[in-house]
Amino acid sequence: MENEAYGPRIQKLQERMAAANVEAFFTLAPPSMRYLTGFTGEEGYLLVVQGGVHLILDGRFTTQAQEECPWVDVIEYTGHFTRSVAELLVAGHTHWLGFEKERISFVQAEQMRTAMPSVVMVPTEGMVEGMRMVKDAHELDMMRAAGRCADKAFSAMIRQLKAGMTENEVAALLEYEMRKAGAQGTSFATIVGSGARGALPHGIASSKVIEHGDVVVIDFGVNENGYMSDCTRTVALGEQPADVLETYAWLLDAQQLGLSLIRAGASARSIDTAVRNKLKEHGLAQYFTHGLGHGVGLEIHEAPRLSQGTDAELQAGEVVTCEPGVYLPGRYGMRVEDSVIVTADGFESLTQLSKELVLP
Ligand code: ZN
Ligand code: ZN
Repeated sequence: MENEAYGPRIQKLQERMAAANVEAFFTLAPPSMRYLTGFTGEEGYLLVVQGGVHLILDGRFTTQAQEECPWVDVIEYTGHFTRSVAELLVAGHTHWLGFEKERISFVQAEQMRTAMPSVVMVPTEGMVEGMRMVKDAHELDMMRAAGRCADKAFSAMIRQLKAGMTENEVAALLEYEMRKAGAQGTSFATIVGSGARGALPHGIASSKVIEHGDVVVIDFGVNENGYMSDCTRTVALGEQPADVLETYAWLLDAQQLGLSLIRAGASARSIDTAVRNKLKEHGLAQYFTHGLGHGVGLEIHEAPRLSQGTDAELQAGEVVTCEPGVYLPGRYGMRVEDSVIVTADGFESLTQLSKELVLP
């Protein structure tokens, strides 16, 4: 992205800093650093003050940062990063430093306190995450591209999936197809749960052999240019008994209902409630054991949540998942998940994959 795109983000952060009564803001979270500067390294320290932006990096990353964000003051530190942060704060006569209480470890906070005794460290929450919820046009294009890449990889994998393969082989095949389709990696460890293992909502792929007749839950995502995709499909190898087909039809109904309620202004909790009530009509609510959805972007799980534990109202430009599941312990599991862009009057899906249960 062009450098000028980051200016408005820094400016907005500086406004949020002023509102939070902090003179400087410190983050070491790679997704936040990437969002604010374009720096894609996996380790570094970002200090934003009202007058400038400093990236404090070790020698592995300085050249990269100078290329990726030449408008940022890149400082190469030797020894400990806290010394560079302290020097900048002292030079700027800064006393109030905001930091992300959910991102920094206890040890790091202690080290900073020790290195800068005259600075008051102010715990903050959601300073950057709050900005990242609503994506700009460029980010939405990146999310669409990640979705297309994931669709392509899954379609290529599914043509090769057959009984006798292990879950690990299916995961490896899918991840290979992701790379071939242009992904830099996965957004999380690919979940392939077949037969009774499908009832483990987040059981990652194992060495279990997929049998003819198995119902298989595949939850997968690509990381393309830092933006994540998230999608789940459930497929069955071979004809299925009536109760499995029926349960899947009810699950699809519930997911459709959830999707139909997504729009700007909708209460995230009420969508979760509606889907739960729909499953309850069929006696399945107790088998849906997690929240309905979550935000996706530079991280696989970000704000907002679609669950019972939120008061959030959806906003246009957010990207959220809708992923009800039914998990019957010892038998099988099913989940269907789409990631969608919230719009003023509905949503735009980031995936076009079929939801047909039984593979041809
Ligand atoms: Zn997922
Ligand atoms: Zn998800």
